[in-house]
Amino acid sequence: MTPTLEEVRDFVSVSYPRSWAPRQVVGRGSLPLLGSGKVDKRTLVRDLSTPADSSNSTARGLSAPGRTNRGRTAVFSLPMKVRFRGVSHREGVLVYGAAGVGEFSPFWDYGVEESASWLAAALEAADQGFPAPLRDFVPVNCTVPAVSPDRAAAIVTGSHGCRTAKVKVAEPGQRLDDDLARVAAVRQALGPGGHVRVDANGGWTVSQAVEAIAKLAEFDLEYVEQPVASVEELALVRRQVDVPIAADESIRRAADPYRVKDLAAADIVVLKVQPLGGVSACLRLAEEIALPVVVSSALESSVGIAAGLALAAALPELPYACGLATAPMLTRDLTSDPLMPVDGRLAVRAVQPAAELVEAARADAAMARRWRDRLEQCQRVLDARILDAQRL
Ligand SMILES: [Mg+2]
Repeated sequence: MTPTLEEVRDFVSVSYPRSWAPRQVVGRGSLPLLGSGKVDKRTLVRDLSTPADSSNSTARGLSAPGRTNRGRTAVFSLPMKVRFRGVSHREGVLVYGAAGVGEFSPFWDYGVEESASWLAAALEAADQGFPAPLRDFVPVNCTVPAVSPDRAAAIVTGSHGCRTAKVKVAEPGQRLDDDLARVAAVRQALGPGGHVRVDANGGWTVSQAVEAIAKLAEFDLEYVEQPVASVEELALVRRQVDVPIAADESIRRAADPYRVKDLAAADIVVLKVQPLGGVSACLRLAEEIALPVVVSSALESSVGIAAGLALAAALPELPYACGLATAPMLTRDLTSDPLMPVDGRLAVRAVQPAAELVEAARADAAMARRWRDRLEQCQRVLDARILDAQRL
């Protein structure tokens, strides 16, 4: 039976304390710090054992979400068809728990504090599972990198029926004419009934963005994703163009994702489950920001994409196609039934890793040690956040 919106809201508020939402998680202000900036754990433990907290808070901390039932882990490395975001292999850790399996795969340019949110997402999938879906299918877009017009058109026509294309623009070393030619080719390939959105990854200045968007608008854009880098610039651009603006990096890597709402800097937000700390955290963020959501993957294996799919399936409204059709970018996957789009959409379902495919993707000893160290560091950050949350 399909849960009501109220039931979904109740699930979110019960399963995910407000203090875990990014706005709170990044706030370390209430933690006792040493001169080095590290958390003073002795003071923390002493404070927690005061009478107000005499119900064995430390033990509660260890049994709180994020620590429970953590089973085994498997470090994997999957080759990609094309180098993307500077990587040729997608690496990470599968975390098995009582509710299922999660993926922990922050890119290496993410530090420990940021990566801890990725671990929270993996632990949620492993220990708690996902909310009940509200829909059976999620429409998805194809992604067109900064390639030639011919290649762009070929990607669209070979995209498993996607009726929405996201086109990369503002690539360093390219000109606006290159973007216009690529977007024109994509519009032509999709026909007038398809949807074209562009993603600048913050590559333009405000004036460049205003000029580029005015010219690109000729191709009937659905929206422009992150035309400029900062939230303040995003707000400025939004007030000078007619095409809707989507915030991606301004949500995912910002100290305060709510600033997008406070400055009315976007019409749409892009949410990615791992960087934002899990499906429940994203549902709460979506409710509080109160803007339409596009769910995107972080180029995960199908295990990680399944968390994005669960989020897209649980959102009360889903007016746009999601960026979850990224499994085809991998040469191999961890499941025998990867999340491949059919007729431009993904069927909502769980993903089970296959033991032989996990074994085939197993990282070498040195890489496995690096990842286990990273996971341990992130776990310590999460433990401190749980203690922090209990103090509030
Ligand atoms: Mg983006």
